[in-house]
Amino acid sequence: MRNDLDLHIHTARVGCANETMAVPALLERCEQLGYTHIAITDHLNGPQHLEAQKLIREDLRGYDGPLAVTWGVECTVADPAEGTLTVTEELVEEFSYDFVIGGPHGRYGEEDPDAIIATQHRLLLATVRNPIINAVVHPWWFSRVEWERGTMNWFEDMSRIPGWHVEELAAACVETGTAVEMNASAIIHHARFTQRMLDDYREYIVALYERGVNFTVCSDAHDIENLVRAKDAAKFLADAGVPDERIVVPEPTEL
Ligand SMILES: [Zn+2]
Ligand SMILES: [Zn+2]
Repeated sequence: MRNDLDLHIHTARVGCANETMAVPALLERCEQLGYTHIAITDHLNGPQHLEAQKLIREDLRGYDGPLAVTWGVECTVADPAEGTLTVTEELVEEFSYDFVIGGPHGRYGEEDPDAIIATQHRLLLATVRNPIINAVVHPWWFSRVEWERGTMNWFEDMSRIPGWHVEELAAACVETGTAVEMNASAIIHHARFTQRMLDDYREYIVALYERGVNFTVCSDAHDIENLVRAKDAAKFLADAGVPDERIVVPEPTEL
């Protein structure tokens, strides 16, 4: 079990994660947790995040502790009709990212459950097929706010998602060499996900694994106390029968 990895970590710089996630503090906590390899992947959702991304890269410069660190970024869908992402090849070049993760982060205006599912699937596929993407983030996550609005109350398990969606996603991942993320905060610790949902999610991971998909392990921590959750993601994959050789470890970045 690879409970020594965390490949999706936010920082205090962008302002989505809280002030506990200053880069030196989170590096120290990851060392204490016994991690061997992490990736820093804060949000780049638009021009408002460019300055913070530069500052994070500066924060990492010169780190020579025991952790292998990969310099990465998390992007979201830019144009849902086109399936484009907020990180482009030009931005990957400009910031020298070694690890790019991304995926849909909303309903994109859909109300009907089957329309929501169809849009998610289309955007997951578009993300996987985008050549800059190394891993697709937290498939089937929706924000807690959607339950408060009443738009996701039907989503108590994954039975409404057609089986051929799994087939298509797995085929696209295998063809493009894109991993699927096992995300502890967004999925395992989701405030609105029931045990039934998590049981279905485990079966979903099994189905992807059986079709040849590789996975990443991560906390998606926005608070320093949640970095430990990456170990829950590792356990979830182990419980689904995913062996260590199917867990992706990117090249470390020369900091
Ligand atoms: Zn995300
Ligand atoms: Zn994230």
